[in-house]
Amino acid sequence: MVKIEQLHKSYITGKNSLHVLKGIDLYVEEGEMVSIMGSSGSGKSTLLNILGILDTYDEGSYYLAGELVRNMNEKKAALYRNRTLGFIFQQFNLIPFKNALENVALPLYYQKVSRKKRNQVALEYLDKVGLKDWAHHMPNELSGGQKQRVAIARALISKPKIILADEPTGALDSVTSYEVMNILKEVNNEGITMMIVTHEHDISEMTQRVIHLKDGLIEKNITNRHN
Ligand code: ADP
Ligand code: MG
Repeated sequence: MVKIEQLHKSYITGKNSLHVLKGIDLYVEEGEMVSIMGSSGSGKSTLLNILGILDTYDEGSYYLAGELVRNMNEKKAALYRNRTLGFIFQQFNLIPFKNALENVALPLYYQKVSRKKRNQVALEYLDKVGLKDWAHHMPNELSGGQKQRVAIARALISKPKIILADEPTGALDSVTSYEVMNILKEVNNEGITMMIVTHEHDISEMTQRVIHLKDGLIEKNITNRHN
């Protein structure tokens, strides 16, 4: 599903250049659930942004679902993001003035699905994450865990092949973190590939494989046999 070879990325600010990814090789099979770990500043978000076609890379290659992601124009990148990728963020990124149902339905609005149909489908996805009764609540009326479940439903509604999650439990207490991780596991059991950035060991323990980033390289790649 993901094939990355000798990937390099530097950030250039003014006269300074910061070499963040220094030759990453990474293969992720369809249906895998992997976590990416590493200390703060090790390049986890940089890698995830490249995977999500939210940022470009300098050298190497990145194949997503068999297609080379390189010099994609914004239109094609957007198409890929909408059809193949789902995103989950630490801070949920819900739209504050839209209720839970409208937040989940938003990707279908951009796909020009009628209001009636998108609300119907959004309710099914809210039900899937256990929040059917909260459909008409605004984000500020929801707990952190509920907000993240709304965000998961929103990511799922466009039927992505891969979900990319950047510290999805980073703003949650441990009980809620496990609840959210269990939902992500259920989603993965349905065949969706899952890549989760985290710096929490107990979260990475819940994935099948842990990729450790250090100094811009993959330092370790550990399979959790119990998952
Ligand atoms: P992590 O997610 O592992 O904490 P990041 O990928 O966010 O790490 O950042 C890796 C390094 O790149 C850090 O030193 C960070 O300051 C730097 N960095 C991240 N984004 C940018 C940017 N847009 N411009 C310049 N430097 C950046
Ligand atoms: Mg980060």
